[in-house]
Amino acid sequence: MHQARTTCPYCGVGCGVLACVENDRITGVDGDADHPANFGRLCVKGSALHETLGDHGRLTRPRVDGAEVDWETALDAVAERLQATRRDHGKGAVAAYLSGQLLTEDYYVANKLFKGFLGTPHLDTNSRLCMASAVAAYKRSLGADAVPCNYEDIEEAELVVLVGSNLAWNHPVLYQRLRTAKSRNPLMRVVVIDPRVTDTCEIADLYLGLKPGSDARLFNGLLAWMADKGRLDRVYLEKHTTGLDDALAAAREGDGAVEAIAADCDVDPERLETFFYWFASQLHVVTLYSQGINQSSSGTDKCNAIINCHLAGGKIGLPGAGPFSITGQPNAMGGREVGGLANQLAAHMDYHSPGAIDRVTRFWATEHLTPDVPDGPGHKALELFEAIERGEVKAVWIMATNPAVSLPRADRVRAALEKCPLVIVSECVADTDLLPYADIVLPASGWSEKDGTVTNSERRISRQRGILPPPGEARHDWWIITQVARRLGFGEAFAFEHPGEIFDEHARLSGFENRDGADSARLFDISGLAGLDRAAYDALAPIQWPVTARAPQGTARLFEDGRFATPDGLARLIPVRPREPEQALSEARPLRLNTGRVRDQWHTMTRTGRAPRLMNHRAEPFIELTPEDAQALGIEDQQLARLTGAGDDYLGRVRVSKGQRRGEVFVPMHWTGQFSGRASMGGLLEAHRDPVSGQPESKHGAVSLEPL
Ligand code: SF4
Repeated sequence: MHQARTTCPYCGVGCGVLACVENDRITGVDGDADHPANFGRLCVKGSALHETLGDHGRLTRPRVDGAEVDWETALDAVAERLQATRRDHGKGAVAAYLSGQLLTEDYYVANKLFKGFLGTPHLDTNSRLCMASAVAAYKRSLGADAVPCNYEDIEEAELVVLVGSNLAWNHPVLYQRLRTAKSRNPLMRVVVIDPRVTDTCEIADLYLGLKPGSDARLFNGLLAWMADKGRLDRVYLEKHTTGLDDALAAAREGDGAVEAIAADCDVDPERLETFFYWFASQLHVVTLYSQGINQSSSGTDKCNAIINCHLAGGKIGLPGAGPFSITGQPNAMGGREVGGLANQLAAHMDYHSPGAIDRVTRFWATEHLTPDVPDGPGHKALELFEAIERGEVKAVWIMATNPAVSLPRADRVRAALEKCPLVIVSECVADTDLLPYADIVLPASGWSEKDGTVTNSERRISRQRGILPPPGEARHDWWIITQVARRLGFGEAFAFEHPGEIFDEHARLSGFENRDGADSARLFDISGLAGLDRAAYDALAPIQWPVTARAPQGTARLFEDGRFATPDGLARLIPVRPREPEQALSEARPLRLNTGRVRDQWHTMTRTGRAPRLMNHRAEPFIELTPEDAQALGIEDQQLARLTGAGDDYLGRVRVSKGQRRGEVFVPMHWTGQFSGRASMGGLLEAHRDPVSGQPESKHGAVSLEPL
């Protein structure tokens, strides 16, 4: 028996895992006491990782047009059909849709192939559904997609504000760290702002059960209140920011009385003012926000309303202070680092970043190959599938994700895929809701087999190590992409034989013409990790970017000197005008739909669904609503019921809960047609999105409910 060090593949906390390996099997897992994300802790999902492994149900052979084939045939088919689509319909007819489950090395080669050599900008990721609004807000305000703080800041804060985050269920180890820190520091206060009473409220000193969608009004109110009470940090604002007057003018639109704000947010005015007072009185404040903020048609504005309050109070760039977006997926941030979002090019450079297209073109050029980099952004997730629906995109390669159930209007996504001439799917699992739409199916390796890096919510890069061989003929995603690139004639640019070589190129690109991170607009610089040999790459210890010659041990906190990543070094306060959710309630659909995760499941349960003890927590799809609403609708607890929304219906068992607000229902995101027949929550939602970030409005559906 030996222990192998790796990283959990589930949430954005990014816990270190020690896997016990016996006779080519992982027989148990422990938390890695040396990993700075978790210091030995694991949540129930992480501690059951070994129970989710095994060859049963895995996809092990490539398929082309329904027939099992060898890899040569499959790779030839991918290359030939992509090439034919490009030749017959143009570069923009080819697209890719990736996943925060991919490792950074997989993401890097996919981005390089599509944006660098196939010449199409249409490469996006399911991370768009998770944190795109947080990214857009950081960029608008701080000048870069850069989380300023770290997990220790949460422990050092005097006030932690959780907004739209059920940390106890969705980032459990971070919740454990917060709970322990609170028990050690009797002065620490926790505020939870969430329409639902969740398990996270157990440690709350103050709970604000606000009306869904009213977050921007609440934080605008806080900004105006701070100004009115003389609680702005005028010195910090003067030295390090710009835009206060406009942001304040927007915040003051509407009735500024606490009672009026409380009425708009449907919270108790005394509690609201207590929150305002606590926030304004403490310097060491961390505001943690997650999908409850991001998954909105005004998510970017909501994030900026929060960041405005931190800037206005100088609560950023300090120990125990900052606006902290917690990512959902294990590598949502790693994907951003390589350009995995359609509006990004590579290494955190946007298309419009000065000199970026030329710089990336020169970096990717080889002796005989000149990259064909697009000149502008591509389709974001929803736009991409709408372009498929219109017949403009005719070939899509989907990796490690399932848009057939997870995207809003999943019914339309499935119809679009049905008529798309070429759908390529890279997947670990033999049977998913997506595979029936695939012309070519490529078996991919999974956790414990894949080898590479991921980046967690605090910018910490960790190794996920290949411990077991993939089953059957499954192969690593980076290898599959590289093999296709070679068949397309781009072999010289894809001569990678090992993920460490990809990581090296990725690290070098981040520092290419970046003056050792001195160019503040290019904060993402890990050139200090370039040049690792295989042994050093394999032994790479967790480290937070930027990692440069000036910061070889990484960077725990950003903006400590008050200089931001904007051209003039000043952070921007952004004027925010609150907007209602786009999905309007109606007589036919009178209930507000909220969606989210449950504690023991992950995404569409292809992994966690294999562990019986994880299924025990919530064994079937459910619909949560208040006792009063249940009574009004003539529905009893535990009765089966049907939700009707924008597209698909959702069948589930009713759970009557006092933690819901009247007129609102909650459903989990995990169950799919494959598991339950009819419980795809994506199909209930209209395909509305944030106009800046493109993130879908997944928290604000409009539905009706009837008993079965
Ligand atoms: Fe894995 Fe997240 Fe649990 Fe840590 S908190 S063990 S990363 S699921």
